[in-house]
Amino acid sequence: MSDIFQKDPNTYKLLTPGPLTTSLSVREAMLVDRCTWDDDYKTMTEDIRRRLLKLAHAGDDYGVVLMQGSGTFGVESVLSSVPSKDDCVLVLVNGAYSVRQCEILERYGIAYRRLDFAWDEVPSAEKTAAFLDEHPEVTIVSMVHNETTTGIINDLGAIAAVAKPRGLAFFVDAMSSFGAVDIDVPKLGIDFIVSSANKCIQGVPGFSYIIGRRDAIEASKGNARTVSLDLYDQWRVLEKDAGKWRFTSPTHVVAAFHQALLELEAEGGIAARAARYARTNRRLRAGMAELGFTAYIDEAHQGPIITTFFYPSEDFDFKSLYAFLKAKGYVIYPGKLTDRDTFRLGNIGEIYDEDVERILAIMREYVEAHRAA
Ligand SMILES: *Cc1c(COP(=O)(O)O)cnc(C)c1O
Repeated sequence: MSDIFQKDPNTYKLLTPGPLTTSLSVREAMLVDRCTWDDDYKTMTEDIRRRLLKLAHAGDDYGVVLMQGSGTFGVESVLSSVPSKDDCVLVLVNGAYSVRQCEILERYGIAYRRLDFAWDEVPSAEKTAAFLDEHPEVTIVSMVHNETTTGIINDLGAIAAVAKPRGLAFFVDAMSSFGAVDIDVPKLGIDFIVSSANKCIQGVPGFSYIIGRRDAIEASKGNARTVSLDLYDQWRVLEKDAGKWRFTSPTHVVAAFHQALLELEAEGGIAARAARYARTNRRLRAGMAELGFTAYIDEAHQGPIITTFFYPSEDFDFKSLYAFLKAKGYVIYPGKLTDRDTFRLGNIGEIYDEDVERILAIMREYVEAHRAA
């Protein structure tokens, strides 16, 4: 399946969590120019929506909205379209993407509260419950599932158990987990969940998708603060025209995403993909630990998608490691912590066991060369 490795010496595989390395067949799906209102294209859109619903374990009481733009556009669409002027959103913050949710709410002047946790700590159900008891104005709880900032995987079930009995709506940014971690959306009582084309479904960048409770989408009619990101209106047109998008859609990206969904199914669905990611992530961390690299997130809360490592020494030179790996066909990711020097290794996309062994061998070569120096 690793058919795309280095046909061209200038290409490299991405150890970044989206855009990520896609299969040759996903990229080949983009070689055709498609008409946005042609039936074949609309059928493709509808099939994507149906498949996403199924991956979410959702039935007819949920709907799927595809939204142009990167993942943030999807998150912003929900946050700027769903809350009414009587709502107040509680954002559980333990990384840069939950901070971004606060920035969005702030910008629109939508009422919100934030509850901060350490970035190597999952939001605790007890603290959230205590906060909600003191803040009856909160009507919506919003959180990130896998915080790609650090690689920590937050506990949706624990927070759902606090939010749902209180009758609160529940928003989840599952950008870097949907498709790779099984999420039973109705069972968790999730009202809106967002992900994008270039994460664990393994498509290319260009749109995001929102799976939401149909009655909640309908109830949001008239609440949107923008035209382009109006969730209800986008949904209304997709429904009315059976797969025609409201404005110009990224046709090549949509075709690539459709192919990526077929390949997810061929791999064995979410269970198989979850197993591959978990295995490569575990091996990568174990191999890095042998080379002296310590992970930021402890084993118990480490997600299977991306790992943050501390610099191993004061004089560690990230740029030099980056260049060394890139010359050998792999691109890595800088850290996103403000108080500690870190870098990140993602393992989603077309990354297989043999890649991990190769990456670790290159890392060993680098470490040994620098130890000798
Ligand atoms: C990728 C990602 C996003 C969206 O980022 P974009 O750059 O807009 O695609 C949002 N939340 C999380 C957790 C992510 O990993």
